[in-house]
Amino acid sequence: MNKISYVASALVFVASALTIQAISAQDTATIYAETITAKDLGAHLFVYASDEFEGRNTGEPGQKKAVNYLRDFYKNQGIASGVSDGSYFQPVPSAYLSDNRRGMLLKDSENVLAFIKGTEKPEEVIVISAHLDHEGIKNGEIYNGADDDGSGTVALLEIAEAFQQAVAAGKGPKRSILFLHVTGEEKGLLGSKYYTENPVYSLENTVTNLNIDMVGRIDDRHKGNPNYVYLIGADKLSTELHLVSEAVNKKYMQIDLDYKYNDENDPNRFYYRSDHYNFAKHNVPIIFYFNGTHADYHQPTDTPDRINYDLLENRTRLVFYTAWEIANRDKRIVVDKAGK
Ligand SMILES: [Zn+2]
Repeated sequence: MNKISYVASALVFVASALTIQAISAQDTATIYAETITAKDLGAHLFVYASDEFEGRNTGEPGQKKAVNYLRDFYKNQGIASGVSDGSYFQPVPSAYLSDNRRGMLLKDSENVLAFIKGTEKPEEVIVISAHLDHEGIKNGEIYNGADDDGSGTVALLEIAEAFQQAVAAGKGPKRSILFLHVTGEEKGLLGSKYYTENPVYSLENTVTNLNIDMVGRIDDRHKGNPNYVYLIGADKLSTELHLVSEAVNKKYMQIDLDYKYNDENDPNRFYYRSDHYNFAKHNVPIIFYFNGTHADYHQPTDTPDRINYDLLENRTRLVFYTAWEIANRDKRIVVDKAGK
């Protein structure tokens, strides 16, 4: 154990006493967490990252197939549209996505929003996000993006299904949950930028964003120790969010939470490189879940047969439990480091 994690563990131990009371609904949460399975995740991902979806390039036919797949899933589950016209789609226009100076001309696209309304504090919203797009077809090769970010996308579907089963049993979350699938991530975090500039639910009432981008693989650093995930950003705006995240993991999942990339001095600067950053910019506390890069990262070989589905299940359950806790605890997560 290195020094930093030792100090963090000591803090968590103290904090556990404070947070444990709010994690009293554990048995209920576990019932629904266990509906998230490797099998279901795989069933979705072998469609979502199939060649039929043509690498889901922003604005292109494969990306339209992807958003229709997501919309139809939520409809079939009985989970409401997150936009008022019932379409599940927030249009992101070509003019917004395109950048003439860079010679980037993109067609109209859309974010996909599904919503579960909170029972006690419906105005307070937890956003769980993943990007729906990938790189499309280049030089005749399909970039399937199974890990990037098919893995995060199907994680959202399974988390939504788990919450909806809780709703059906009268155990719906106290706060609302927005399942936000954003477009244009690979073009520069554009769909999430658009959403945060045109929020459907006010950012002041957005409690937390949990963003999932690449959670189905193992990087070189963890070859012999695959039960891990990188957590980035949890403590940047809210001390409490980090402590809750740690306490939830300790109680339910015991995944090795690796904070290597949470270091401000890390040259990869991953904190700034996925969609959560557009929420953090607006002082919404975030957690970014990430498995690190690997040999198939942004290659045509990022295919669904290479995903570790047991790991994907564990990581998805961790996000579910964390969302469950944030949605159901008595007080909303406190932002104590805004603007720093
Ligand atoms: Zn990605």
